[in-house]
Amino acid sequence: MTKSVAHEASTTYAQGGISAVISQLDTVDEHVNDTVVAGDYLCDEKAVRALCTDGKSAIEKLVEIGTRFTKAEELEAKNKQADAVHAVVTNESKLIQSYQGLHLCREGGHGKPRIVHCDDMTGKEVERALVEATRKHPNVTFYENHACVDLMTSSSSSSSHANNNERRCVGAVAVSSCNENDDNDFSETSKIVRFYASTTLLACGGAGQLFPSTTNPVVCTGDGIGMAARANVVCENLEFVQFHPTALYADNDSLKSPAKKLDENENAFLITEAVRGYGGELWTHLEDGERFMPKYDERNELAPRDVVARAIHAEMRKNNSPCVYLDITKKDADDIAKNFPGIYKELKKRNLDMTKQRIPVRPAAHYLCGGVKTNIDGETSLSGLFACGEVACTGVHGANRLASNSLLEGVVFARRAVKTATKKSKESLKQLLEDEFEEIVDEDDFLKCDALDLSKNHNNEKSNKYRGIKVKKEFLSSDAFAQALRKEVQLSMWRACGIVRRTEDMRETLVKFKALQRLVDEEEEEAALLNGSNDDGTVTLALVEAKNLLAVGTLVLRSALRRKESRGLHYVVEYPDRVEEERMSTILAPIDADDETSDISSSSLIEIEQEEELVKQVVVARGPR
Ligand SMILES: Cc1cc2nc3c(=O)[nH]c(=O)nc-3n(C[C@H](O)[C@H](O)[C@H](O)COP(=O)(O)OP(=O)(O)OC[C@H]3O[C@@H](n4cnc5c(N)ncnc54)[C@H](O)[C@@H]3O)c2cc1C
Repeated sequence: MTKSVAHEASTTYAQGGISAVISQLDTVDEHVNDTVVAGDYLCDEKAVRALCTDGKSAIEKLVEIGTRFTKAEELEAKNKQADAVHAVVTNESKLIQSYQGLHLCREGGHGKPRIVHCDDMTGKEVERALVEATRKHPNVTFYENHACVDLMTSSSSSSSHANNNERRCVGAVAVSSCNENDDNDFSETSKIVRFYASTTLLACGGAGQLFPSTTNPVVCTGDGIGMAARANVVCENLEFVQFHPTALYADNDSLKSPAKKLDENENAFLITEAVRGYGGELWTHLEDGERFMPKYDERNELAPRDVVARAIHAEMRKNNSPCVYLDITKKDADDIAKNFPGIYKELKKRNLDMTKQRIPVRPAAHYLCGGVKTNIDGETSLSGLFACGEVACTGVHGANRLASNSLLEGVVFARRAVKTATKKSKESLKQLLEDEFEEIVDEDDFLKCDALDLSKNHNNEKSNKYRGIKVKKEFLSSDAFAQALRKEVQLSMWRACGIVRRTEDMRETLVKFKALQRLVDEEEEEAALLNGSNDDGTVTLALVEAKNLLAVGTLVLRSALRRKESRGLHYVVEYPDRVEEERMSTILAPIDADDETSDISSSSLIEIEQEEELVKQVVVARGPR
């Protein structure tokens, strides 16, 4: 089931590649070591070992289903330009013996060349191969344009501290936005569909949309974490958000940015590290200004990602500017166009010539290291619920992700989760039938039902056991309140929980988010009254997503406030150093548990009320994005 079309996902935008030990020069131990060092010693070593050990078979599987990875010989022979780009990225792009002669790049943090890739569009090719293979599989039905809004559980305990062992996930509630008789007609008013399942796998990706600038596509609104949290599923390490230092800053106002936007909702286009590797310099202004990196690090523009991101952030703050500028114009124009054909073309489309003009860039949210906590077989704390990919926290990334480990994590742990779910499927199905369906349907009927879509059969009260978000019959795609809420969450997160964090800012934002939550509740109640609805409620997809962003933002803030040190991607000014006693994962129980605002003294309550008033005004004042 997917919210948009099958290929619209972060995976499609991945450029670099997938790490795996597939050459004789390399060992699993070395990959494990590089991963743990990058993770700032917070990784779960058992999970890391599983990741690195299964890397080779993951690549073999992708090749088997038809992924066309770049081969070393082809690259040498046919495409000198591409090789030049990779040579810049890796500084080490030589022919080495590898599985099927695949070309291997070396990226920052990897001690050996071990990045399998498909030119510089790896994700697109992997996604193509996976979607094509899956569409051909007789047991798989695709539900595109189906937005999952909540998980269904076998008991709807009102206690937020319910013992998850007593409950099971029995499927999910979704909203379909396509015509029942024609999958390509999305004009139909939406309908609610309940998918009953003995096993449910969350694979909803990350939450880059938590921030105003992100490389993630618009679908990455943290829905999986929001749904899991509402179902009292444990989440882990959500404070670790990776920012890419140089994403394009585009705006349709040419006074703000010389690069125009192609689409109002587009994700930020990545300007690869290779441009800096090629000699690109970071400057404060579009013309003249200061080349600032030498002030921050002796490696200048080639300092590690987090150092560059913090320096850019500091300069933006200092100059009250929405971006800084990347200058490559000193290099020969023809060479630039040859070495960076993709970026050159993309910028040209946006009226910017990188051979003559500086490129406006700023850090953008890129990857969420934490997520729904799983074991190495993808099992979450809720029986019957699995998670894999960016939505999950398997423990492999610790406090920072090693480049190209995330696509690998997706493949490796998805396979492990499926294996485990398959092993347990008989038992799970039996339990599901006993727990949930004994009064509703017998096993034969259940198995006959089309792709577990039992919505037509089960409209009674018992099947209504999902919590949290309610959805509207006329499932609108835009909604002024929701858009304003989304924007408010994004700006607040950037201010309080971006690259450099301050405890006071985070605490204030948490209070503000509580106030926003109350506003959302009021909005829902009002809409319910207006609709006179007493069944499936009242809320639009835009509001569902904004609510998830608010929920995930709250969890990220709570996690960040708990960590009293700076480690990996989490940098907080009051605790600038690593603290050995703090070297543990941040485990968050349900969303409605006591949080870090509970110790706010009563004298602050007046401030909170004022804050709520302010929030109301801000939200009302802001129009749609
Ligand atoms: C620009 C960019 C470059 C990257 N480069 C690399 C790289 O070189 N190497 C690397 O290893 N990693 C890279 N990454 C990270 C990597 O691509 C992602 O972490 C990974 O692809 C995530 O895969 P996923 O399947 O978990 O999520 P996604 O690929 O994002 O898929 C999530 C899916 O869930 C759907 N969905 C979400 N919410 C709902 C809902 N409520 N209901 C129904 N469907 C829903 C979405 O529509 C989408 O189809 C990059 C990421 C980006 C953005």
